Amino acid sequence: MSKILIVEDEVAIADLENDYLELSGFDVEVANDGLIGLQKALEEDYNLVILDLMLPGIDGFEICRKIRDDKNTPIIMVSAKKDDIDKIRGLGLGADDYMTKPFSPSELVARVKAHLARYERLIGSAAEVNKVVEIRGLKIDTTARRVWVNGEERAFTTKEFDLLTFLASHPNHVYTKDELFSEIWDMESIGDIATVTVHIKKIREKVEMDTSNPQYIETIWGVGYRFKM
Ligand code: CA
Repeated sequence: MSKILIVEDEVAIADLENDYLELSGFDVEVANDGLIGLQKALEEDYNLVILDLMLPGIDGFEICRKIRDDKNTPIIMVSAKKDDIDKIRGLGLGADDYMTKPFSPSELVARVKAHLARYERLIGSAAEVNKVVEIRGLKIDTTARRVWVNGEERAFTTKEFDLLTFLASHPNHVYTKDELFSEIWDMESIGDIATVTVHIKKIREKVEMDTSNPQYIETIWGVGYRFKM
């Protein structure tokens, strides 16, 4: 469940925002004071912060700046004055969105959902940056195109790497040499299925402890090869 922090000194507004967000299934906390709000935002992990601008003690500008020094939590800034929005933009505080009071609570909920979805996509795509296939002692970073065997890096040619990665990405699937050739080599390539055999031999020399008893790429006699899971 997404956790949302509301920093708002007007209790009636804070309650209204709180009720609508809770009804939409969010876990909500409210701080009616700027300093407490800032402390919570920095110490706890919220998925989003709704931040009022005019607060006693420390204002929303300062809170936004301090959160941004430390965290990427999406921030929606809320103000009673339209002029403030221009000021927020002008200061480049790193707020993700701005709303002018009064706003409809359902509009707030819609924006909260949109920002959470956008943030999750960002986090998700960052997590996918390096795709790694790891099977027993063999580790293939398909993004960086690097291979390790029992922690030791091995160098592969482009086609060796492509062939190994293709097989390791489809474990236990038996491929004929024809299938592998058309998968890894484009049509204009000079070569034939013997090329596949040669490359398999080279890959085995790099990844197998004992090439006569392969642990990774198995020969299926009369058919082709498969990567053992
Ligand atoms: Ca206020």
